[in-house]
Amino acid sequence: MTPFRIGHGYDLHRLAEGRKLILGGVEINHDRGLIGHSDADCLIHALADSMFGALALPDIGHHFPDDDPTCKDMDSQVILEKAAKECKAAKYGIANIDLTLVAEEPKLSPHLEKIRNNLSQILLIDAYQIGLKATTNESIGYIGRKEAIAAFSVCLLQKED
Ligand SMILES: [Zn+2]
Repeated sequence: MTPFRIGHGYDLHRLAEGRKLILGGVEINHDRGLIGHSDADCLIHALADSMFGALALPDIGHHFPDDDPTCKDMDSQVILEKAAKECKAAKYGIANIDLTLVAEEPKLSPHLEKIRNNLSQILLIDAYQIGLKATTNESIGYIGRKEAIAAFSVCLLQKED
């Protein structure tokens, strides 16, 4: 068994009025939120997919189908807990995670510390093991037109003794 396994995840959700904006399990005050079957937390979805990917498991859509009524408006922290459980079952721990959010607005930098701390609490790891950055799309394309928010994740798992 290799001592390290790397995974990558990507997710995007559309922005719409009348929805809460939740990123990394943290509610962010904004006039619009992300649309999806669950709470549409694209950061957690990308992160969970990078963890499933590192384990060579199917993506979150397999574990939490979007036509499953029990997943409707579900808290995505449940998805992250499931990914953490799978890592534990395979006897891998998280070495580190690197996350990038791409959003034209709202300004995410004031929220990054809270999101990082929340993710570290769910995953039972140190906040130092999580890199979290936010960038804009320079007003270009659907993200630049404020129609969507996207997230990228890379996760390195380390075999536990
Ligand atoms: Zn998603």
